[in-house]
Amino acid sequence: MSKLKKETIKNWIRKNFQILTILFGLLFILLNFLLLRIVPGNHLAYSHIMYIPIVIVGSLLGSYYGMGAGVIASLLVGPLTPYIMSTGQPQFWMDWVFRLLMMVFVGYISGWFSRSYRIAREKISELEYINPDTLLFNINYLNKNKLEIKKVYTISTLLISNCDTICDVVGYAAYYKFLFNIKEIFTKQYPDIMIVQTNIDHLWIIKPTNDFEEEIENYVEFIHQASHVLGQHLFVDFAFGFSQRKHIHQNLISDYFIQSDQAAREAKKNHLTSMIFSDLNTHKAFEYEILSDFSDALKNGQIYLLYQPKLDLKTRKPIGLEALIRWNHPTKKMIMPDQFIPPVENTNMIHEMTEAVFRWTLEFQMKLNKKGIELPISINISTKNLYNKDFYNRMSKILKDYPVKSNLIELEITETILMENPEDSKLILDSFSNEGYRIAIDDFGKGYSSLAYLAQFPITTIKVDRFFTKQILINPTTQHIVKATIDLAKQLGYEVVIEGIEDAETADLMQKLGGQSAQGYLFMRPSKEDDLMTYLNQYRDELKKG
Ligand code: C2E
Ligand code: CA
Ligand code: CA
Repeated sequence: MSKLKKETIKNWIRKNFQILTILFGLLFILLNFLLLRIVPGNHLAYSHIMYIPIVIVGSLLGSYYGMGAGVIASLLVGPLTPYIMSTGQPQFWMDWVFRLLMMVFVGYISGWFSRSYRIAREKISELEYINPDTLLFNINYLNKNKLEIKKVYTISTLLISNCDTICDVVGYAAYYKFLFNIKEIFTKQYPDIMIVQTNIDHLWIIKPTNDFEEEIENYVEFIHQASHVLGQHLFVDFAFGFSQRKHIHQNLISDYFIQSDQAAREAKKNHLTSMIFSDLNTHKAFEYEILSDFSDALKNGQIYLLYQPKLDLKTRKPIGLEALIRWNHPTKKMIMPDQFIPPVENTNMIHEMTEAVFRWTLEFQMKLNKKGIELPISINISTKNLYNKDFYNRMSKILKDYPVKSNLIELEITETILMENPEDSKLILDSFSNEGYRIAIDDFGKGYSSLAYLAQFPITTIKVDRFFTKQILINPTTQHIVKATIDLAKQLGYEVVIEGIEDAETADLMQKLGGQSAQGYLFMRPSKEDDLMTYLNQYRDELKKG
């Protein structure tokens, strides 16, 4: 018989299962009845066969059907057979009533047992397909769930890069809830999506689509939404890898993830939120090209600094600058620091870069100095810089070449970098602080460190991350967090800078909440030296060297 025919018969049986079972039970009971009536011998023995259809019907269709079978069977061998078949004597009514009760009971109990068994089996199979901690499906589910043949699927891998930190700092319960939220949010938006958790920090997402590039943004947004857990916002560092596959019958589904896993790993390595497999090689080529051009670009003026002023929120006058790097590449146009710093950080060229930034900043300080302007300038420091043994000595050596006071330089270090190795960073920051440098915690609030913990470091400034600024007008919780941060930071003697202010309303609210200083497009975008000179000239009298 062909496979197709067998499948059709199976389907037909499945569809008519109930009626077929009933017919089978009735036929069995009837045949047994005839056996009792026609075949000679000890009929008492045959009468016990009646229990077989009752047990079968009860087990397959449940207690009610089992009891029904019991009633029919007991009536056939009861009032419809008014004499005891083995002896031929009249049947006493009590006998068959008792047998009726027995058969009904057996029918009921078979249904009850089979139901309990089914429930237990469902529970076991649930555990087989679900991760009990997160309630997300596991890999067995993926293999069980058949994909549609010849349909195109978007295959994505999600890596939670800072899973260990989240679990250590906020605990497993919050992390598991975050994963659960991911499932809830994705399946609400896309009911046909399949999400499988293969590891504590690794999810696979399958969605039937032809065109997925526009959805990447949604995926990233959903992760942000999911990170609101138990009244707090987790800082989640994650990377997505995407690829696309057509499902062909014989393929092993887990093979589909090789490419998206690879893309996600590459995205994680490069501190990107997502990467498409087909772009991987292009990206590698991009990285290779920028790295090979980088050293020259530092020397030939393609790479330069812009400066963004930091203002006093009350007077709206400049009180500092931040140096931000730019690369005007001859063929790739403007490359932003987020694109080239991550690959450069993987090489020793990051030292060359920070040293160049430091020199350019000191040169600009001298120009300001000539105009009689004194204003601290911040520079951004990478992980690799901070944890390099020679960093302090090399920076000190550079500073000696310029007649600039160290307290006019502020080093911006992100909370995350600081926490990578608190002991080492304290030692090195103490050296800089003793030398007179100002030290700022950049992107504060993105990590988990409390201000009280940061108090052990020689900090002068806290820069509240743009993430809070963006939602302060719409989110009352954020307002409370920012207010509490500002109050505590002030008590600890830190200057508080609010990052990324883009509108007047936000600036006013931040001022009301106690913020002293701010940076943002509202006041001025990062600009070239000449534009800054013009801008600062207006305030020359106030910025005079004191
Ligand atoms: P960051 O240190 O947090 O710098 C602030 C970023 O926010 C800058 O982006 C700035 O242009 C942008 N920004 C300022 N005001 C606003 C605003 O109102 N709205 C919005 N949406 N953005 C605003 P940029 O220049 O692209 O730099 C990005 C990141 O690259 C910096 O973030 C910093 O981490 C890194 N970076 C920049 N220059 C350097 C550098 O010289 N060395 C190192 N190691 N990192 C740098
Ligand atoms: Ca910064
Ligand atoms: Ca920042």
